[in-house]
Amino acid sequence: MKATEEEITLLGFNSKDLACKCCGVCRVDLGLLQRMRCFFDFTQKLDFKITSCCRCWDHHVDVYRGIYGVNWEKKISKASKHLITDEHGNELESCAMDLVGLFLHLEAVDAVLGKIWLGGYHFYKTNSPLIHLDTARKRRWR
Ligand SMILES: [Zn+2]
Ligand SMILES: [Zn+2]
Repeated sequence: MKATEEEITLLGFNSKDLACKCCGVCRVDLGLLQRMRCFFDFTQKLDFKITSCCRCWDHHVDVYRGIYGVNWEKKISKASKHLITDEHGNELESCAMDLVGLFLHLEAVDAVLGKIWLGGYHFYKTNSPLIHLDTARKRRWR
């Protein structure tokens, strides 16, 4: 269910942090925000920043182009939980969030969330480390 502007505010989020970086559209699943509110309350002493929530298809393509160059089409995830429009232009709601923070802080939550998070979860230990969380079925990947 799509979160209204009021629900986003009541849960302590700013729709600007959640909206698609290119078009500014914010279509987020309320269930994700409720769960992330619990997460942020639980990890108060740690500091995280939301880097990606909503992505329209064009923005999603840009992200994959940035990572894979001309091979983006082979690599792109058409079922990404960040998507607010699919490749055919159908509207969706994002139920995914990516978080960045101090590696130490990411590691601290990873030790717990990696085990108990009900949904999609991955700790990307790249040059710019991030934790991806979504509320779809329980999935883990490498
Ligand atoms: Zn966009
Ligand atoms: Zn993600």
